[in-house]
Amino acid sequence: MYEFINKLRLTRQLIFEEGQISLLGKPTVMMLPADAFIELHSVYLKQDPVRLYEIGKAAGMDFHELVAHYALEPQHVIKFGVQVFNISGFGKLEVSQIDYENSRCIMHIKESIITKIKSEDPACHYIRGLLVGFMQKTLCPDIEGVEKSCMAQGHQMCEFVLQKKDSFDKSSVLVKKQLNI
Ligand SMILES: [Zn+2]
Repeated sequence: MYEFINKLRLTRQLIFEEGQISLLGKPTVMMLPADAFIELHSVYLKQDPVRLYEIGKAAGMDFHELVAHYALEPQHVIKFGVQVFNISGFGKLEVSQIDYENSRCIMHIKESIITKIKSEDPACHYIRGLLVGFMQKTLCPDIEGVEKSCMAQGHQMCEFVLQKKDSFDKSSVLVKKQLNI
């Protein structure tokens, strides 16, 4: 991980200047402690989880634009995107399965900061949106995402299924809730 951060600094993709931090050419904020993020997330989680998902999606699309500046092929965009995500402090992201032809993938996040939240339902709406926005731009604009299980529920990791909206089982309560259908 440190090697990757060093590489970003050497190639001026990560720049620390007084009053500003820039990651891949975009101003970023480091002083958002995990607890503050969790608190913000928890308030929104009760009020408007769909909005959290939408905010995450927009951030994921932005993130893709930054990453796509440095990589062309979807495989490389995803690999680089995962590396950058993994220094973001949200947790450790892994692509567990990916089917490029059908624009479908399963992603896992371990050691997620969301583990501090306790919830009956999967709770990572912002992160789910972030992954979906990123993959919509990388693979297919029809992709949506559902978090099947979450560390906030006490699971070992968060599991996200990303695929074309039509491929989800619309009778599933989880799908209905998370995709607002
Ligand atoms: Zn989760």
